[in-house]
Amino acid sequence: MNSSAPLRLAILGSTGSIGTQALDVVAANPGRFTVEVLAAGGNAPLLIEQAIRFKPNVVVINDTTKLAQVKDALLPHDIKVYGGEEALADVVRMDSVDMVLAAIVGYAGLRSTLAAIEAGKQIALANKETLVVAGDIVTKLAREKGINLYPVDSEHSAIFQCLAGEFHNPIEKIYLTASGGPFRGKKRHDLATVTRAQALKHPNWAMGAKITIDSATLMNKGLEVIEARWLFHLKPEQIDVIVHPQSIIHSIVQFCDGSMKAQMGLPDMKLPIQYALAYPQRLKANFPRFNFLHYPQLTFEAPDRETFGCLQLAFDALALGGNKACALNAANEVAVAAFLEEKISFLQIADINARAMQQTSFVPAPNYEDYVATDAEARRIAAEIVHGAKNSQY
Ligand code: NDP
Repeated sequence: MNSSAPLRLAILGSTGSIGTQALDVVAANPGRFTVEVLAAGGNAPLLIEQAIRFKPNVVVINDTTKLAQVKDALLPHDIKVYGGEEALADVVRMDSVDMVLAAIVGYAGLRSTLAAIEAGKQIALANKETLVVAGDIVTKLAREKGINLYPVDSEHSAIFQCLAGEFHNPIEKIYLTASGGPFRGKKRHDLATVTRAQALKHPNWAMGAKITIDSATLMNKGLEVIEARWLFHLKPEQIDVIVHPQSIIHSIVQFCDGSMKAQMGLPDMKLPIQYALAYPQRLKANFPRFNFLHYPQLTFEAPDRETFGCLQLAFDALALGGNKACALNAANEVAVAAFLEEKISFLQIADINARAMQQTSFVPAPNYEDYVATDAEARRIAAEIVHGAKNSQY
């Protein structure tokens, strides 16, 4: 690819919160990017609309019951349409793709991300679960292939931005900032009866449903701790979490001389998305600018790991190592889905995660097949606990 040619993107999860914002970035920077592939789960109408507007060569819909609908709609537009997980892993390998934006939610994003790395594609990584589940094999493969994983998560983008010009200087510690979510300051007894609607009301960020619930339980911060461990090759004790309710400082790096660098700005995911897509260049953007006088106080507090047990579980999974983080992630996907379907209470999410993580067979040095098996086992255990909880009407 010559440097002035547009970067050819495969956007996986194009119909989601990150995917749609990435397409806004593409639209705002004509000539800079082209869209080669769009892929989604099941939202056929939006995928069709996006395909007609952005004219990719290929579209993939995971839900094969919608394949005929998407094919019919895109036939006059000369766009190839495929369905299913296998197709997703195939299209990311195409020669015409330079970079893959991995923005599928959950474990479902792992296979296509690994396929893209295997094929030597640069990765803009939003799908943190990929690193939570199999961070060791994902980062090892990326190193072997000589490709970069550019973080999209705002905290990890912040760390990455702070590291510019510092690549030879060791990190002493990082602080991942957390807004605290909608239930900051609440105790267990306050959380016993919180509803789905309350948990979906994030104070600072508009995101997909799964990550919004993860933000309310602080599981999201826990997943980010594990993601940071792999992205930046850190020991767990080098990672700290600090609650910063205004979400202006997106994260902080502390170096070996005690100096700290922070990246800040108004919360807007388009910024980390475009930083990942255009790295090392910063693209001009007219996002609203931060005004210090609108925020006379930026505040910080310790996270409450007792009330929000999911954060502690993530640190426990890191300490235990092996397949424990994979088991935790799988249990959490089941528990969050059950909470969204109003089958379990908010507090049961952490309880189910803890029990399923503990009961899943331990594999100290897993390979890919072990991770697949761990994911299935932990899902089965978590589903059984959900079923029991539902029947006992908690
Ligand atoms: P959304 O729920 O909004 O979107 C998820 C996307 O994944 C949708 O396009 C969905 O398709 C697609 N999808 C789901 N399952 C499959 C599948 N099996 N095969 C193919 N596509 C699938 O999630 P977000 O955009 O919020 O999050 C995406 C990822 O980015 C997550 O890992 C999240 O943790 C991470 N992230 C998100 C942030 C945010 O601000 N939203 C911030 C930082 C990280 P469809 O809707 O068509 O079914």
